[in-house]
Amino acid sequence: MIAYLERFVHGNEAETREDDVSNLRKALDLQGSIDCESTGLASKDFGGMHAAKPLALIRPFGADDIVRVVRAASRLSNLTVAARGNGHSINGQAMADRGLVIDMRAMEDNPFNVVPSRGSSLPYVDVSGGALWENLLKRCVSEFGLSPRSWTDYLGLTVGGTLSNAGVSGQAFRFGPQSSNVTELEVVTGKGDTCICSETENSELFFSVLGGLGQFGIITRARILLQTAPDMVRWIRVVYAEFDEFTRAAEFLVTRAEDDSFDYIEGFAFVNSDDPVNGWPSVPLDSDQWFDPARIPQTAGSILYCLEVALHYRNSDRLSTIDTNVNRMLGRLGFIEQLKFQVDVSYMKFLLRVKRAEQQSMANGMWDAPHPWLNLFVSKTDIADFNRLVFKKILKVGVGGPMLVYPLLRSKWDDRTSVVLPRGEIFYIVALLRFNPSSPKGPPVEELVAQNQEIIKCCTKNGFDFKLYLPHYKSEEEWKRHFGNQWTRFVERKDSFDPMAILAPGQKIFSRNR
Ligand code: FAD
Repeated sequence: MIAYLERFVHGNEAETREDDVSNLRKALDLQGSIDCESTGLASKDFGGMHAAKPLALIRPFGADDIVRVVRAASRLSNLTVAARGNGHSINGQAMADRGLVIDMRAMEDNPFNVVPSRGSSLPYVDVSGGALWENLLKRCVSEFGLSPRSWTDYLGLTVGGTLSNAGVSGQAFRFGPQSSNVTELEVVTGKGDTCICSETENSELFFSVLGGLGQFGIITRARILLQTAPDMVRWIRVVYAEFDEFTRAAEFLVTRAEDDSFDYIEGFAFVNSDDPVNGWPSVPLDSDQWFDPARIPQTAGSILYCLEVALHYRNSDRLSTIDTNVNRMLGRLGFIEQLKFQVDVSYMKFLLRVKRAEQQSMANGMWDAPHPWLNLFVSKTDIADFNRLVFKKILKVGVGGPMLVYPLLRSKWDDRTSVVLPRGEIFYIVALLRFNPSSPKGPPVEELVAQNQEIIKCCTKNGFDFKLYLPHYKSEEEWKRHFGNQWTRFVERKDSFDPMAILAPGQKIFSRNR
């Protein structure tokens, strides 16, 4: 088998013979399938800026197939293996140049097992690492009236893909990221071992894998905590002219007790203009709502801020009680009067809100254009300067899409995971979600990448306490700086669980010749 794989790996494409696929299949002895021809899916991602052709795309039947693939790769000196979730990375993180890419979605329905709450224990679901959050939501709510507690804004992402990063949305201030809401994992390590791990069993592997950028193992199953799903959501946006008033209100809300705040808290910066994408029209929640610019104070600058909140409720709740609670909480937030937008939608519709944007953006070709997105965590101590130097100067005309900015609480993150964060209890996520038409209709992608670099440089030059979220670096020096005093731990974890550096080569942290 090894001799065969050697020839396959070292041969070039022109030499790849017709019977190679069946030979490779025989060598790996998979229950699933292997494709060396139609590997296109695995050589691109949502970012649309990187391409790497793998040797083969593998659709595993189950964890045993993944074990076989990893073990086969370990017997060669240069073969790598990348798990591909839904390929929604920006910078080729799920790719493997001339390696083996495992399409995790091939096993997305296996397992799916909901366990209701027993006594004081929370209900949970055991779900495949290749499951889409969107499908998890639909099944949990419609079949069981239950729902995960912590989300991402967009749900066309896999469980394994987001847990390898963190998974952040407007519920994270209360429950932490998705990686704080998982109690057990089944993982195939870079040594080809299948391990069950949790806070108490194989805990080092458990915490390594969470936020581990795919470096230590492939998540084949995750146990995710659930809660009773609400029926409805009151979804509200309010506007601020001043950044310090916006941050004061947002920080006030994220630090309140659970029964004295909203269930979802986010925010975004937008341009003080009638630009349909970057400006006032991006704020109303419904087509029958109108943003009245006459309400903006004369003193406002080039950028305005929107606080976005939501409150869950049941169909059986009295609407007058919801009104009273919402008004009591809004009354303390000091936003611009009459720049308040509100709708009541079903819980499912609320959580699938970005799907509607996806459909629009697919229709106008923007979904398939390059997406040079930038995500950062910025400490509360530096967020005002970030606003002054980045939002108000570098990004004063917007990014062609949402510029999210909202506070998170460090105490809701477990510092035993592999994620690195700024210091201090409160930090902000900043997400620059660029949707531009491809050049020449839109700006050249190089210009946008250069603007991202300018922002990172600005943060570094001014000594901001910040970290990239969904980080992308090319040199070990940069990775060392990113992990800071956690770099040694990260390297030790690699040595323990993937010593030959087989996994997730697209992250460009370690190479097989290390
Ligand atoms: P992929 O891109 O396929 O993989 C990402 C990395 O994880 C790769 O290194 C891959 O090898 C590894 N990996 C994949 N599956 C596994 C597995 N089972 N086990 C181990 N490693 C694995 N993030 C947020 O936190 N909040 C958001 O609101 C949010 N919204 C987004 C909206 C859009 C439109 C997009 C494109 C991205 C968004 N993201 C968000 C970012 C997203 O969480 C990450 O890009 C995530 O990695 C994508 O998941 P994926 O399943 O497509 O993973």
